[in-house]
Amino acid sequence: MPIYVVAEECKGCELCLKACPYGAIEMVDEKAVFTDACTQCGACVTSCKFDAIKMDRVEVCDIDISEYKGVWVVAEVDEGELADVALELLGEGRKLADELGVELGLVLIGHEVADLAEVVVAYGADKVYLAEAPELQRYRTGPYTDVITGIINKYKPEIVLIGATGLGRDLASRIAARISAGLTADCTGLAIQEEDGIGLLYQTRPAFGGNIMATIVCRHARPQMATVRPRVFEKPEPDESKVGEVIKVPVSINEDSVLTKIIEVIRESGEEGPNLQDADIIVSGGRGLRTPENFALIRELADAIGGAVGASRATVDAGWIPAYHQVGQTGKTVHPKLYIACGISGAVQHLAGMSSSDCIVAINNDPSAAIFEVAHFGIVGDLFEVVPALAKAIREEFGS
Ligand SMILES: Cc1cc2nc3c(=O)[nH]c(=O)nc-3n(C[C@H](O)[C@H](O)[C@H](O)COP(=O)(O)OP(=O)(O)OC[C@H]3O[C@@H](n4cnc5c(N)ncnc54)[C@H](O)[C@@H]3O)c2cc1C
Repeated sequence: MPIYVVAEECKGCELCLKACPYGAIEMVDEKAVFTDACTQCGACVTSCKFDAIKMDRVEVCDIDISEYKGVWVVAEVDEGELADVALELLGEGRKLADELGVELGLVLIGHEVADLAEVVVAYGADKVYLAEAPELQRYRTGPYTDVITGIINKYKPEIVLIGATGLGRDLASRIAARISAGLTADCTGLAIQEEDGIGLLYQTRPAFGGNIMATIVCRHARPQMATVRPRVFEKPEPDESKVGEVIKVPVSINEDSVLTKIIEVIRESGEEGPNLQDADIIVSGGRGLRTPENFALIRELADAIGGAVGASRATVDAGWIPAYHQVGQTGKTVHPKLYIACGISGAVQHLAGMSSSDCIVAINNDPSAAIFEVAHFGIVGDLFEVVPALAKAIREEFGS
């Protein structure tokens, strides 16, 4: 979307300087000139009374949407392991594809990942678009974006779903920008609705800090792209007898042209212990713990019961525990069998990440705390007494 000044029309009034939120315009010989700080936000275009600033907008509405068919999932593979969210999306994608009467595809990208094709077919994929190359062994935004946009442009799916993990969020936004598709991030619900004979993807996600649910529709651009957090949808049962087609996509990457080189992979600290999103039991601590050291109480209860440690954002922001443990709207969405919230008030943003847990136990000394509204069992009491007592009782009962 190039933005430029028509020098003959510019009167040097400097209105655009005031309108620019990035300070990215300067006057040279009484004419407006963009600096490198310009983000092409377009604020200056409307501010110019003389129509001297132009922006070439990409028209996305003139594509023939009938050329786009099929529902796709882009799989995330880390060190040969397929992320569960891809399987969850296959389950949901299967329903959408069946409703539209189209095929369900999956993009499998990486190095020596072909063995996973069988797995994703069992989980519902009709077609696997396999892109393999040594340069794709580890995720890098540039090459992954190049390869996947190439496949999308060639095969033209109408819907593309990607897990809202760190990798997925990075990748999905790049792909969407590259193909001018638009993207709905962090969806919690997907459905097909027919409008004028066209099956559209209705994408529902929390908005305004989780206070309302917004349903977003992309009528004119294709594909319709959405990211979905892990554990929002159920993983389907695999069908080992299912047969699918593997389409090998030729990949050619010039390593010299890739800007990012991976020197070493350092796992985020705090990733020890059971993975939060896969855990059946989570014990979470909030600001009621008062100090970072008191997270030892949460770890002790989690150890006793065989669970993972979660946290509210207040404790993460305070530096008491790494962000990896954060549950909620801007943290992880979890769906354990048991979620024990200790000293957590139950702000709507926290609930957005855990309220679908099968059983919620809340420990809080304030009987009016919002967390009790979603809790199946509530203990009104001092966590410094209740949590150690619970851990002790569990260890005694189960010898854990
Ligand atoms: C855009 C946005 C995104 C956000 N995303 C997230 C998110 O992803 N996750 C998240 O958690 N928050 C998120 N927040 C922050 C959220 O609004 C709350 O501020 C936060 O969840 C509060 O954390 P808390 O419950 O630990 O702390 P508090 O709200 O301070 O609650 C502490 C609780 O501990 C109880 N307590 C105190 N002492 C004891 C004791 N001795 N025994 C028992 N109970 C005790 C108190 O009664 C209180 O209920 C977000 C906010 C915004 C604006």
